[in-house]
Amino acid sequence: MVDFNKLACQHVQQLVPYQSARRIGGHGHTFLNANESPKSEFYIFNSTTLNRYPDCQPFDVVQGMADYVGLQRNQVLVTRGGDESIGLLVRTFCDIGEGVVVAPPTYGMYEIAAQTNRAQVTYAQRHEDLSLDAAAIAKAIKEAPFKVKLVFIDSPANPLGIIFPEDELKKLLTDFPEVIFVLDEAYIEYDSASSHLPLLKDYPNLVMIRTLSKAFALAGIRCGFTLAHPDIINLLLKVIDPYPISDPVAQIARQALARGGIELMHERVKKSLELREKFREQLEALPIVTRVFPSHANFLLVEFKDGPQVFERMLQKGIILRSFETKPGLKNTIRITIGTPEELDEVMRVLTAMSAE
Ligand code: PMP
Repeated sequence: MVDFNKLACQHVQQLVPYQSARRIGGHGHTFLNANESPKSEFYIFNSTTLNRYPDCQPFDVVQGMADYVGLQRNQVLVTRGGDESIGLLVRTFCDIGEGVVVAPPTYGMYEIAAQTNRAQVTYAQRHEDLSLDAAAIAKAIKEAPFKVKLVFIDSPANPLGIIFPEDELKKLLTDFPEVIFVLDEAYIEYDSASSHLPLLKDYPNLVMIRTLSKAFALAGIRCGFTLAHPDIINLLLKVIDPYPISDPVAQIARQALARGGIELMHERVKKSLELREKFREQLEALPIVTRVFPSHANFLLVEFKDGPQVFERMLQKGIILRSFETKPGLKNTIRITIGTPEELDEVMRVLTAMSAE
């Protein structure tokens, strides 16, 4: 039989796909590994138009996001989750031999989207405390052995939970007008005051990513957004698939972005933040916890004396968390999504028992 592996593109043969929480799987009953919202809401669904292809950019969904963030429609692109936006940006801006800057530990899809699309990747060092180092990003851009087109920055960062300071971002945007800085604000609803959205009007090389997967509790529908200068949106529209947003997705997204949906989102965020801070206090009191990282999102990154032992014990108990053991600077850390009070109590019971051993 033909060896299809040999038939595949060279770069695909070498590709290691993104290890999403769902791909890793795991047998359990409590899933706190994907930063999802713990509860789904009720939506009305009309099936009478499913025989028709949907609009490429459903009008009400684009308008809903434009109103929510205070931008014009031509500054908004709706995509199949934030993930599609990441890939589209690479495909639109990186020619063969060009590439991107990332600063690990960060969201893994930036690097994988680059590799999938034959773009080069170079790495910026972080400070000792793992905060982003703007000077190191500048150095990575200047010293890369290829032309840097995109810099990916998550703020709030995943899994670090931190915000990239505005003055440092402004300096980079000014110093490198021909580099596009992609600021991924997937978690920004958990600290909306820290959004860098106001910078969009002054810096055309700033692109922002948003999603309905986190605070809007809609990871299941796959709906995200790119916010950018209209010229950039038009370029992305050349590359995007013909019908990226299915009609059911558009119907649900429209309801989520209506006034009632946004109010619900705010209540959900408020509850999650209260729970997060209570959970932090409880964690900090445990002798097996060495550090709880600051968080501006719906998760806590926790360093344990023995991270793998905690991860394994949770697994045995059916609690699925996300380990960052192998990531740079994150030995013994585990990321825990803020779930329901009951789910967090269950985690605390296991940790308290382990602390007493
Ligand atoms: N950016 C960051 C930082 C994320 O953590 C995620 C989800 N894990 C995404 C983007 C992608 O989200 P989605 O594709 O569900 O919109």
